[in-house]
Amino acid sequence: MGSEQALSEVVESAKERFGRLRHLVQKFLDDDDVPQECLPLLQECAEIWSSYVDACQDITMQAPKEDANRLSKAFLRLNETAFLYYMIVYALLEDTLPRLKEFSSNKDQNVRNLYGERIQLLHNDPNIERIRNVIENYPKFIQLQTIEPGKLSSMLHFHGDTLLLIDVRPRSEFVKAHIKCKNIICIDPASFKDSFTDQQIESVSLITSPHSDITLFSNRDKFKFIILYTDTQLHNNFQQRQIRILAKILSQNSVIKPLSGTKILILENGFSNWVKLGGAYQSSVSETAHLTSSSSTPAFGSPQVPTGLFNQKSLSPNKDKSMPMVSMNTQPLLTTVQRPQLPLYYPDLPIIPQPSPNRNSPTVQKFSPHPPTTLSKLNTPSTIQNKANTVERISPDIRAAQAHAYLPPASNVFSPRIPPLPQQNLSSSRQTILNNSQVLDLDLIVGLENIGNCCYMNCILQCLVGTHDLVRMFLDNTYLNFINFDSSRGSKGLLAKNFAILVNNMHRHGAFTPPNVRTIPVQTIQFKKICGHINPMYSESMQQDCQEFCQFLLDGLHEDLNQNGSKKHLKQLSDEEERMREKISIRKASALEWERFLLTDFSAIIDLFQGQYASRLQCQVCEHTSTTYQTFSVLSVPVPRVKTCNILDCFREFTKCERLGVDEQWSCPKCLKKQPSTKQLKITRLPKKLIINLKRFDNQMNKNNVFVQYPYFLDLTPYWARYFNDEAIVNEDIPTRGQVPPFRYRLYGVACHSGSLYGGHYTSYVYKGPKKGWYFFDDSLYRPITFSTEFITPNAYVLFYERIF
Ligand SMILES: [Zn+2]
Repeated sequence: MGSEQALSEVVESAKERFGRLRHLVQKFLDDDDVPQECLPLLQECAEIWSSYVDACQDITMQAPKEDANRLSKAFLRLNETAFLYYMIVYALLEDTLPRLKEFSSNKDQNVRNLYGERIQLLHNDPNIERIRNVIENYPKFIQLQTIEPGKLSSMLHFHGDTLLLIDVRPRSEFVKAHIKCKNIICIDPASFKDSFTDQQIESVSLITSPHSDITLFSNRDKFKFIILYTDTQLHNNFQQRQIRILAKILSQNSVIKPLSGTKILILENGFSNWVKLGGAYQSSVSETAHLTSSSSTPAFGSPQVPTGLFNQKSLSPNKDKSMPMVSMNTQPLLTTVQRPQLPLYYPDLPIIPQPSPNRNSPTVQKFSPHPPTTLSKLNTPSTIQNKANTVERISPDIRAAQAHAYLPPASNVFSPRIPPLPQQNLSSSRQTILNNSQVLDLDLIVGLENIGNCCYMNCILQCLVGTHDLVRMFLDNTYLNFINFDSSRGSKGLLAKNFAILVNNMHRHGAFTPPNVRTIPVQTIQFKKICGHINPMYSESMQQDCQEFCQFLLDGLHEDLNQNGSKKHLKQLSDEEERMREKISIRKASALEWERFLLTDFSAIIDLFQGQYASRLQCQVCEHTSTTYQTFSVLSVPVPRVKTCNILDCFREFTKCERLGVDEQWSCPKCLKKQPSTKQLKITRLPKKLIINLKRFDNQMNKNNVFVQYPYFLDLTPYWARYFNDEAIVNEDIPTRGQVPPFRYRLYGVACHSGSLYGGHYTSYVYKGPKKGWYFFDDSLYRPITFSTEFITPNAYVLFYERIF
């Protein structure tokens, strides 16, 4: 966009003026023969000064570009330049000039007045404080890591006890509402300043705080993570600056409790965004629930379960950022802000039809063969015809499930009527003929331009484009029938439309080309711009984590196509309901949880990619358990630190029963205290397309380079949870939705990473059908593989498997 160019022009002109200043100062410092007349020098100073002020104004104009977490490099350079500028003007005016004999002996009142004015200006310039802050905080806050709302939500679920949250908003707002979790305190942003130490935070800032806050804060070094958050949207830059200062105080100015084993993270986009995304929060209206231990034993189906909603977090902040500050301020706390219409980047795009009122049209059914039973268009029952019976009988049960988390055991209406899983004949679906007789080549081969550090995007695009069921709907435009303009977390089709444009470009360039003809690489700049528009993280030219991008893209497409995107999230289960749910088998409970999930998240993307796993905590004293269910589009499995391992070792590690350490023990709701406890994950739903991320990076971003062997054919049946421990397999009466063993998969894409996380390079291998075989893609370059197992590589980072039957 144009503003970037304007910014670099400002930087350049500031640099030029900076050069002149340096020259001038040098003249003062080097020349023993100082100029006789001070007035011309002062005049020059005045000129430079005014151009300095201009530069500051330019900065101020650019300042709204400053993201809550990241400064663009250009913006920083500009600040640096302005700061140096200031230093030199300062040195010139305050230091050098007064020490000159000519100056002190000069009786000319004009000179003295001029001098006085300059000094006054310098001292009163509010920009200086700002610029100084930016410079001083920059290197530190760049190191400060942020945490996405979705991640925080799941950390609160699984490791709630290891987290201390610090709300850096005025206490009055904290009292009104704050993030719901076990350990949370408020430090008012106005209660500390840059020069404070952690001791002063204790003795000064918290002086009027409740005793519990003071105790928690004094135990801060006992937590694994300290999460800071503020409200980046309802307020000015002050709070954003204070949150960094507080992080700096805790990490660097800590004189009494150095936080060596505690990691400080800042919640991305602040509190109102958290609320908007459905994160659990505590408001003063419901005081009864205040700081109960339920945060460490999250309620089943609670809204903060990272469903598509939370994976979607990146969609909202950007839209909100385009809101003018002023109107944000007029919004009462916690209300949802009306989102502005997103600009359309492709005015020549075909007009998108409104979602068809009859969603049971054949095209719809092609990609959403199993709408969750309750959403089977209860308002258009005539279209359901012979299924009507089922629907009517199922719906009350599902509603019951919503309310009670379990189905009456007597109801056995589901199983016989569940339509069979659509079974793609994988080997014969390589070519598809459309109604309009356009023939598609789904094994298209084409490179993607690298527009500066975007190999993370290209490698994922190549692998996703290797997913026929996904690409087909964007090539034949069926996706248009699904765009949900009312989807509260979507981009009103912007991402989906631009993905379609990209995929169609790739098809135009890369389909039906003979093996020896080089295809022209496809431009990705427009697509990247859209991604950056939705999540500012992708507007920069910095390297990113490709598996995060993969999640971002799938979640974004899902929300655009989410047929239930405008529905409100279901209410949390009561303790009693949760207890009931805990008693039924894991298969049944997970299937019910899946049905609940579909009521708010239902799209072709979910149908293809979304899986689910259960996390169960167990008290070792009374054997009480608590299970939560989470969905995933990318399954991250840990990579053991050994010399070599097999991918099944990763799955073993992922699902092993883990004894929780003393500091992370679960507080058992039955024993009513912290007890020795275990935690275990079980995969409860394996999707049609399984994307596996080998978690090679730890929290410190160290990379584990172990060669993880992964097979071409992968059988995950043993890792699919039939039951926990001694649970019997019972006769199920809920939709299976494809969850019938065996779960055998075939590899079709590998995204590889070499080097360190932010400095490395991404490439990919994608299977292009039996005729063409595997291809290697490196941005705009591609080639067939040179030996048959080349795609089994130590650099593998994200694996794409498709289920075979
Ligand atoms: Zn217990």
